[in-house]
Formats: sequence, structure tokens, C-alpha cells
Amino acid sequence: VIEIGTPEHSVVTTCAYCGVGCSFKAEMRGEELVRMVPYKDGKANRGHSCVKGRFALGYATHKDRILGPMIRDHYTQPWKEVSWEEALSFTAAKINDIQAKYGKGAMGGISSSRCTNEEVYLVQKLVRAGFGNNNIDTCARVCHSPTGYGLNSTFGTSAGTQDFDSVEDTDVILVIGANPTDGHPVFASRMKKRLRGKPGEPGAKLIVIDPRRIDLVKTPHVKADHHLALTPGTNVAMLTALAHVIVTEGLVNESFVRERCEWDEFQEWAAFVAEDRHSPEAVEAITGVPAEDVRKAARLYATGGNGAIYYGLGVTEHSQGSTSVIAIANLAMATGNIGRRGVGVNPLRGQNNVQGSCDMGSFPHELPGYRHISTDAVRETFEELWGVTIDKEPGLRIPNMFDAAVEGTFKGLYCQGEDILQSDPDTKHVSAGLAALELLIVHDLFLNETANYANVFLPGSTFLEKNGTFTNAERRINRVRKVMAPKNGYEDWQVTQMLAQAIGMDMNYSHPSEIMAEISATTPSFANVTYDLLEEKGSVQWPCNEAHPEGSPIMHVDTFMRGKGKFIMTEYVATDERTGPRFPLLLTTGRILSQYNVGAQTRRTGNVVWHDEDLLEIHPHDAEQRGVRDGDWVKLQSRAGETSIKAKITDRVAPGVVYTTFHHPMTQANVITTDFSDWATNCPEYKVTAVQISPSNGP
Ligand code: SF4
Repeated sequence: VIEIGTPEHSVVTTCAYCGVGCSFKAEMRGEELVRMVPYKDGKANRGHSCVKGRFALGYATHKDRILGPMIRDHYTQPWKEVSWEEALSFTAAKINDIQAKYGKGAMGGISSSRCTNEEVYLVQKLVRAGFGNNNIDTCARVCHSPTGYGLNSTFGTSAGTQDFDSVEDTDVILVIGANPTDGHPVFASRMKKRLRGKPGEPGAKLIVIDPRRIDLVKTPHVKADHHLALTPGTNVAMLTALAHVIVTEGLVNESFVRERCEWDEFQEWAAFVAEDRHSPEAVEAITGVPAEDVRKAARLYATGGNGAIYYGLGVTEHSQGSTSVIAIANLAMATGNIGRRGVGVNPLRGQNNVQGSCDMGSFPHELPGYRHISTDAVRETFEELWGVTIDKEPGLRIPNMFDAAVEGTFKGLYCQGEDILQSDPDTKHVSAGLAALELLIVHDLFLNETANYANVFLPGSTFLEKNGTFTNAERRINRVRKVMAPKNGYEDWQVTQMLAQAIGMDMNYSHPSEIMAEISATTPSFANVTYDLLEEKGSVQWPCNEAHPEGSPIMHVDTFMRGKGKFIMTEYVATDERTGPRFPLLLTTGRILSQYNVGAQTRRTGNVVWHDEDLLEIHPHDAEQRGVRDGDWVKLQSRAGETSIKAKITDRVAPGVVYTTFHHPMTQANVITTDFSDWATNCPEYKVTAVQISPSNGP
């Protein structure tokens, strides 16, 4: 706990953990952080916070932080501490050498959803204008890239449709593939408040679609009206069955659909979902959920008043992640649950700036504002400003970078703020790709697992040490304000700028507000966003432009961003990751409240709440069959690899399903996950892996 004295002054800034984007007052004494106080005027959190944002800050001053640059010729050699000048000239020489030998396309970059909008924008600019290709991707590739595809295709842009306040007017909350209590605690409290209702006024109804009995299903004060505990990997079959009931029982909001959506596509979609093979009865054997429960849930969502859908990575991280997002959008359009308070489709973004990193053009096929790289007019805007020619072909996605590295055509990578070796699937393949690179630049706070293969380490700065903005799950652009001087000497945007200058780019921003000015000038949905406006309003939600000068709490009010909403067919295709005699159980994964992703930050804190361990939840029936008791070590095997983990016997999971978190490196959860991915975006299929477990003596 950070409690080291009486504060002398305070700075309002934004939490760098999850996509809720809570505002905090960082209370300081000199350069020391005394405590983080949830900011009562923060529009996303209204004075509330969770344990991570308030106390998990030990990493900022942890002894493991690397504060000076390091280089080595090859990853097998020891690191050499050098000056910034030497590190940058060494790196620039390697980049030039690689591009001279193998061509421009041999270099690429990965931006971080932990970094600010301005920093992400600069990384994609460095790759496009400096490296001269579109080999730029973001760690959102492995979480919400299907949201980008699905919501863009149906609604015309990739973002949640509502602000958090909207939940107060919701009558039916549908949560699918998300565990807000652990993943988005402050918003979960808002949701629970609405579910509880007020004295004399009933709360909202709740439908939970999740293989696991998450906290929301039953707490002392909240109980789901329907928990559809489907088999992992069957979201599309379930969502299409819900649509089947809505269409065949005459529950479509026809006036909304006629006025707001493409009518021909709707009719084709309605005929498709009405086929008997999509009925709850027909798919019961696939989803494992009784048909009558599905029918009741569909009726409740369609007729219960304002219906809002909230979803998470349990939707996106599947081989049909994009199809599931489309299916969710179809449900909202068919029932008219879009474009006003209380309704909508809301991806609960995992990391603090997933929304922003996607907004800022760090996908290989999109420039800032979700505009396709092949669109001449959009490319020309940036070409004119940057004085370069931009390739109109999309570049490599993250998994393709590893493939190309193994094949020998991709040779150098600048990786900012992501431990790809620990967080991406199929660890063996990732490490083979990283080992094959001639240049791996890791720009991070710590020597993470990925840095084992790096030959340049550029120290990063924490959110406490920088200025900029994060965009939360409700599209709210929040200011991040520098609380203390960067311990490594530079804010991350400055490091990227120095790297750009080292390879000869003309990049000379003196403050992130100037980067935001360039974003506003080139990106219509950010046209009115300035630091002055953010100071005045506290925060704004994009689109923020001439049509919406003070931002947009609700999207798609009169028309969809694409004009008319588009229904798209959602054919269920079973994942190739199947159970069988060797691997008879399905593993799915999630998070706990106190930890964050691979734990690089939360594990580096002194409080005992962070001294937990990853556990494998096993149903009592499956445990008994294998002679496994609570607390035993078990060997967890898939066709990709094996690891050891302690067992927790619980009926939170159904027979045939096991579940674990992935916060500790020792767990090596991604040694188990396979290389299957979403058909449209390559988002890894983390949420369903066929496994076997057996008793073990530990690691
Ligand atoms: Fe930070 Fe999210 Fe917790 Fe808010 S809910 S304090 S943004 S981790």
C-alpha cells in the first residue's frame, strides 16, 4: 500500500489497468506518490475504484525496472548498458542494414494498448512513414480485433455504442463471455446497482451466457434470471438460436428495422435464422443448453424493454470471434435495441487503451479512424502531411510476423509495451519467430520474457511519468497527466520520436498535445478533440467533431455510422479444436480481480492480496474420475504442450470444462493454447482448448 506521508499537491490522471478508465487524484509529496484517491468528478468512475487502480502501483518504483538502454549483438550474449545515443545509433544501423539486405518489408512494429493514444499514433507513423510499410499491429490483435471486424461490418465503426451511464436505463442486461466483477469491477458495481433496483422499483433483468458460473449469476444481492451455461466454442450457435426465436415468434422490431437497416439483407438474414436447424431444440446438442431456457432468454431480451448487451473476450477469442460479434449486432438491430439510452452493444475492453490503440490506426489494414489503407483519399491525407508514399496493401498481422520470421522474410521488430512471448498463443512458434529475427527492440518497463530474444532494450515510462490520453470502453478520451519525472529519462512518445529521428525521420513534437492536434487534423471522429477541450470538459467521447462538438455519449442515434445497419448471416462452424479420447476436456481462461493479464505490473507490489497463484478449476466429477483432490498439482496437457498447475475442485465449471487464469509466468497457460484463430482477424482462440489432466508432483 502506498502510504508514505502527507500530500503536498495532487494531479488528476487516469488508471492504466482496465478499460473502465477510472480517474484518480495522485497525491504527491515532492516526487513521491503518497496515495491514489479515486476522483469524484471522474465521469467513468464517479469517485469509485478497484483495488488495482488504487493500490497496485508498486511496479512503478520496483527494483526490477530497467532505467537505461541496453544492447547486444545477439540474444545469446550478455546485455551491455549504453547511453541513449549509442543505443539509438546501434538500432538505426541495424534497421538500415536489414532494410538494405532484405527490403523495406522486413521491418515491423507492435504498438501497445497500455500506452497513450499519442504514443500509439507515433508507433504506427514510425512504421508507415519511417520503415515504409504497413507491418504495424497492436496487442488488440489478441483480444478485441473481432470487435473491429464485427461492429465495423454491421454498424460502420468499431466501438461500444453507449456510455456507462446508459446502464441506468436498461431493463434487460445480457452479459456474454465477460466477467465484469473481475474484469471491469467499477462498471460491474454500476451494473449490479441497476440489477438490484431501488426500494419499490425492481431492478433490471439479467441473462448471463457463459460456460462458467461467474459471480453475476448468483451473488447475495443479484441473481441472473437465466444462465445459459453453454459449451465453450458454441457462441454462434447460441446467438443464432436466440435470433431464431426472435424471428419465428414474431418479436422483431419491424419498424426499427425498416427505417434504420438494409431491408433486403434483413430479409435474407431472417429467412436464414428461421431455418429449423437454428432452433434452440436443434442446437441443444451443440450448446448443451436446454432449448426452453434459450427460448425464455430470447423472449426476455426482445420484449423486456430496453435491452443492452455487454460482452468480453469470451466472445472474441474464438475461431468464430468475428461471427459472434456480428451475431450480437444482429440481435440488437432486430429488436431495435440501438441508438438510445439503456440499450446497445458494448464490448468491455480489457486494457486501459484497447479502444484507443485501435482508433489510432495500428492495424495493418487501417489508418487512424478505421479507414482502410486502400482508400486513396485517406492515404493521400497522411502522405501529404508526412511527405511520404504509403503502401496501399495491408501489412503483416502479429501472427503473420512470426510466420514470416520463421520463413526468413521478416527480420526486425520494434515491440512497445507487450510481452508477446507470454501473452500470445502457441509459445513454441512465437519463440521460434523471435529467435529468427536479426533485430528485436523491446521497449518496456521490465526485462520481460520477450526480452530474452531481444538485442535492444529501450526502457519505458509508466503512466505516472507521462502526458497523453487513454480512450476507455465507452469511447471516453481521458487525460493522462504526468505525476512525476520519468525515471528512465523519457516519456514513451519521446523514445519513439528519438528512434524515428535516428533513422532520419523529421519528427519533432515537443508535447503530446501537438500529436493530438495532428490526430484531430487527420481523423474526422477526433476533429474537435484538443487538450484545451479536455481540460474544459474533463473528458469527451468520440465522435467529437463539427456534428458532435462536445462528443457523443450514444452512437448511431439517427443513422448508423455506415448509414443503414447491415444484417449478416452467422453460420455456426464448429472449431477444429475438438475433444477426443486423448484430450477429453475443454479448457477456457479468464482473470481475477486483483491481477492483471500476465501480471507484469500487479505481481510487482508488496501487498499480500497479490500473492496468489493460478488455479485450475475442475468439476468434482472430472476430478474424482482422475483421482485429483483440491490443492493437488495436476499435469495439464494439450496437443500444443503441457504445464503443471494446482487444482481447485468446484462446480462453478460444468463437467467436461476446466478453467484457469494466466497471471503468473510459471503457469505458462499459452504453452497449452493452440494456433487456431478467428477466421477474419487471426485473434487467437484462447477460450477453447482440448486438454487432459492427470495427477502430478508439481513443476
Ligand atoms: Fe483501474 Fe479498471 Fe479498477 Fe478502474 S476498474 S481502478 S480503471 S483497474
